[in-house]
Amino acid sequence: MCSCVRSSRAMAPALLPRLLLPQVGFRLAGRGIWTSPLCLAVSGDSQLPPLPGQARVVICGGGIVGTSVAYHLAKLGWTDVVLLEQGRLREDGFFVSGTKSGSLHFIEAFGNKTQILERTAIQQVVVEKGHVIAVETDRGSVECEYFVNCAGQWAYELGQASEVKVSIPLHGCEHFYLLTKPLQEPLPPNTPGFEKNPKPIFTEGRNQLEIQNMQEDWDHFEPMLSALLRRMPNLESAEIHQLVNCPESFTPDMRCLMGETPGVSGYYVLAGMNSSGLAFAGGAGKYLAEWMTYGYPTANVWPLEIKRFGSLQSSRTFLRHRVMEVMQVKCCKEAVCVIDMSSFTKFELTSTGEQALEFLQYLCANDLDVPVGHIVHTGMLNERGGYENDCSVVRLSKNRFEPSKQ
Ligand SMILES: Cc1cc2nc3c(=O)[nH]c(=O)nc-3n(C[C@H](O)[C@H](O)[C@H](O)COP(=O)(O)OP(=O)(O)OC[C@H]3O[C@@H](n4cnc5c(N)ncnc54)[C@H](O)[C@@H]3O)c2cc1C
Repeated sequence: MCSCVRSSRAMAPALLPRLLLPQVGFRLAGRGIWTSPLCLAVSGDSQLPPLPGQARVVICGGGIVGTSVAYHLAKLGWTDVVLLEQGRLREDGFFVSGTKSGSLHFIEAFGNKTQILERTAIQQVVVEKGHVIAVETDRGSVECEYFVNCAGQWAYELGQASEVKVSIPLHGCEHFYLLTKPLQEPLPPNTPGFEKNPKPIFTEGRNQLEIQNMQEDWDHFEPMLSALLRRMPNLESAEIHQLVNCPESFTPDMRCLMGETPGVSGYYVLAGMNSSGLAFAGGAGKYLAEWMTYGYPTANVWPLEIKRFGSLQSSRTFLRHRVMEVMQVKCCKEAVCVIDMSSFTKFELTSTGEQALEFLQYLCANDLDVPVGHIVHTGMLNERGGYENDCSVVRLSKNRFEPSKQ
């Protein structure tokens, strides 16, 4: 959906981990580290290491995001973590060292070990009484307490494939960038742009694992290229190496999806990186690992929490239209835009005695014991005194309140 012009020098795979991810230090497979879908070629190895029967945490996906979560969990002291990847990882990462078969890796962070098994596809997550209890793979089952869906553009389908459907609203698009030979006068390394008509993929049927090299589409890219040439005429002399086209997934509001899913406890998600996965994976993995360890992350990632979306937003039609809309801010600037504020005032708190007032006085930072008809602007706090919600509370009668949700 977004298209970028970069010089091939800027894309040198060996440089990217150091430039973009100093605190994580994983180097992943494929043509460059930036997209593991390109590295799904299955090797001739016939011997796969055995699948453990149980683990505390199972992570799905050996892309930059899944490995970041695994690394940060190990760093926080988790020892019984298994990462399953349907394709392959490369063996020469800083923290990833492999056996010769290339199918079993360990992430080592401060002495703790995490297993990474390649060529193992998770088919569904098994849920009992609202809690994750196991994953089923094409090589058998693994019992687990926690499951982390870091399946990138496959995350939507994996959510839908579970016994209890988990809504992970992601929209896959073809994503282009132009690879040039080094320029005499270097351009800024990353010059993003967005097409008016992004090309959706995986909107019907199953996401196809075999898609590795998607076709160049110069007709589709042409409007972007013309706009770039208008702004940067020097580009005309650039020697083009390749128009790269790979799938990438986008969310309805261009923010990633993070945290525990509302319907299934123990089912965490970190996906939907909106073309910024390389830049964000290190930090996002750290906050998700903290969330799983302490029950909350050390930074406020509330706007990224997966709970902001309901199952309605997982409709393919909604996603296609909404994601294009988010990209096209133009209509807000130049035409008419309707903003849905219906999330405000969804709750009504009533009680026979003073319980509603007492509860809100405990929850909110401001004094809510105001005359009937008054509105109080306040914060709702968590058990650590942190700020969870900035809202307004209306006192409708002595024991009836309407807090807004923002
Ligand atoms: C052309 C292009 C340019 C980009 N440029 C930039 C950039 O400049 N800066 C930036 O920050 N980001 C950029 N990105 C985005 C970045 O590459 C992605 O956001 C990031 O790679 C996503 O990582 P991920 O780990 O979430 O997903 P992936 O890399 O897709 O990893 C998910 C993994 O899960 C595995 N998996 C899926 N389902 C299963 C299953 N059922 N069982 C087992 N394994 C499974 C897949 O095989 C895959 O390896 C670009 C992307 C593209 C396509």
